[in-house]
Amino acid sequence: MHWDAAACTDKGLIRPINEDSYRISQEQNLFVLSDGLGGAAKGEVASAIAVEAVAASLNERTSTGAQGSFATRPEVSEDTRSLVRAIEVANRKIHDEAMRDSTCRGMGATIVAARISGRRLGLAHVGDSRAYLFRADALEQLTADHSLVAEQVRHGLLTHQQAATSELQSVLTRALGMEETVEIDADEIELFPGDSLLLCSDGLTRMVPEAEIGAILAQAPDVRVAAEQLVHRANERGGHDNVTVIVIRGSERSKRWIAKFFPWGRSNVI
Ligand code: CA
Repeated sequence: MHWDAAACTDKGLIRPINEDSYRISQEQNLFVLSDGLGGAAKGEVASAIAVEAVAASLNERTSTGAQGSFATRPEVSEDTRSLVRAIEVANRKIHDEAMRDSTCRGMGATIVAARISGRRLGLAHVGDSRAYLFRADALEQLTADHSLVAEQVRHGLLTHQQAATSELQSVLTRALGMEETVEIDADEIELFPGDSLLLCSDGLTRMVPEAEIGAILAQAPDVRVAAEQLVHRANERGGHDNVTVIVIRGSERSKRWIAKFFPWGRSNVI
């Protein structure tokens, strides 16, 4: 399978700077997005460290840590374990930098990272940046926000509607850089041709209802247009926060090639 990917980011209409960061590495089939926290405490530094550290440490193929959370998950692949280890490294780097530089004290970041190997998607995240799967015209959130309101919804203490209007939406229960270690959620799913994957910061999901996100993913002719339209829509809806999206779409390119150049083989093409 071949994966097309495009990203778009904007500081929005209110915030003075963009504290989100992202990285796409086609060689590694790696897609990383991070939302910096802290405002005066340099959230943009934290998110930049996060995406850089994940990409760099996957290159170095580090081989320590990330045992505890997978003790009961022998089915999780080495690719996804290495993604989790890379996020552990990112967490430590942000924490160390905040300790070293007093102007960065208190900075933190979310992270959502995806790695695709064949048809297998490995996902890992911390915080409230999300991953969505768009399949067969349905949008499914793959990540569970590490935020106070999301925890309260999961425990039946708040409705989705109450959570969407809560003044406590920004309160995270987990973020990179806060402590020397951090608990990271990781999962794997199988992907199919025609699937789209969306990674996004909360500047998208707080501004644009999921039905509209799904409609844009369904109608956009390619990933670049989809990414631009999502960011544009967040700004149309108020642009209260920085907004960043990565859109990834899978296709069976080799079969299309056969269909194009060997029309007599068309009956074999799905
Ligand atoms: Ca944000």
